[in-house]
Amino acid sequence: MNSTTAPPDAGGRIRELIVTPIAFADPPLLNADGVHEPLALRCILQLVLEDGTVGLGETPGGSARLARLQRAAKILPGHNVFDTTALCAAVDETLLPDVPSAHERGWTTSAIEVACLDAQGKLTGRPVSDLLGGAVRDSVPFAGYLFYKWAEHPALDGRPAIDDPWGEALTPDGIVAQARRMQELYGFTSFKLKGGVFPPDEEIAAIEALREAFPGAPLRLDPNTAWTVETSAYVAKRLDGVLEYLEDPTATIAGMADLARISPLPLATNMCVIAWEHLKPAVRDNAIQVLLTDHHYWGGLRRTRELAAVCEAFDIGLSMHSNSHLGISLAAMTHVAAALPRLDHSCDTHYPWNSGSDIIEPGVLKLENGEVRVPTGPGLGVTLDTDALERMHRRYLDSGIRDRDDSGYMRRVHPDHRPGLPRW
Ligand code: MG
Repeated sequence: MNSTTAPPDAGGRIRELIVTPIAFADPPLLNADGVHEPLALRCILQLVLEDGTVGLGETPGGSARLARLQRAAKILPGHNVFDTTALCAAVDETLLPDVPSAHERGWTTSAIEVACLDAQGKLTGRPVSDLLGGAVRDSVPFAGYLFYKWAEHPALDGRPAIDDPWGEALTPDGIVAQARRMQELYGFTSFKLKGGVFPPDEEIAAIEALREAFPGAPLRLDPNTAWTVETSAYVAKRLDGVLEYLEDPTATIAGMADLARISPLPLATNMCVIAWEHLKPAVRDNAIQVLLTDHHYWGGLRRTRELAAVCEAFDIGLSMHSNSHLGISLAAMTHVAAALPRLDHSCDTHYPWNSGSDIIEPGVLKLENGEVRVPTGPGLGVTLDTDALERMHRRYLDSGIRDRDDSGYMRRVHPDHRPGLPRW
């Protein structure tokens, strides 16, 4: 073969995967575990092909997930980026001996699959939504994600307090004010409250205040398994007709199944059904009526479409989960949500809590009227801001923070905090 002639698949051959851990500012958002630390961690993936094409991915950080991505990076060179199923299977097999949890392995394969699809889109000149069967909607609805929060991160370890434009929200009035600001800035028409922070009656009062302030707006409440089955049943009865669904009120498929038998409200989860093996018992026991899918751990964007088909078959409604994230994840969430034939609820997003920081160049992704328009450029349709990547990577290195610890951070501020759940 002439040495100057490229092999026919050179355009798709993977040269390397670059994984960059980053940190960005996060406000003091409260949850059942504790409180968000001043920095959120993510990993940014750059899947570099032999022809110089780069596919982007983004996934939650943390030392174990970072180490798994770095292990996966070793076996990717030489694979063709269009062999996504086979190369994700190879990554899964590599991790299996040390990582028995399919859910945990899913974080790694999912991030790589998204980077593959971004690269495929750039090679073919098609948006990722086209690679998923085509967008069935031009824009994707998102919910305003409300949090109880402190006015500031308190002064700690010699660093001063860190405030933010959102201020304090610890009461029903504070939550309604936050929702109004969310609506003014981004046009949200549905809202989710992160609960599990205060006694259930206080959170019921916050939901009732939201109902009064936003008549007709879909509302949901997610206490992250802070309640027993009995407490969950009490809240479900109090909020019957007010919430569209109750999200992870109590732990485990068995607990949700017990609750589902007496709850007048549909039950949703992104905590007890988080891997394919959980679907069978959940469906058999009618434990959930809504699944919050998340492409970051279900195996990527194509697997999310397949998951949606399973949900359709068993009449399980579809919504979408979010962790603290930046624009690459938002683009991926938007593409896959656009390609789902049936999306029953607006998607969750932490995006408004990023204080404007992002890892992509501005202009493509905008939250307007509570929606994000589906990017139409090749791949995910977003461009990595390399200066921001360098800056956020430096911040990660300098911070010394390597794992998320909402509970530990809360105990440093309030030593009497007890992390055990259920709390009520
Ligand atoms: Mg949740």
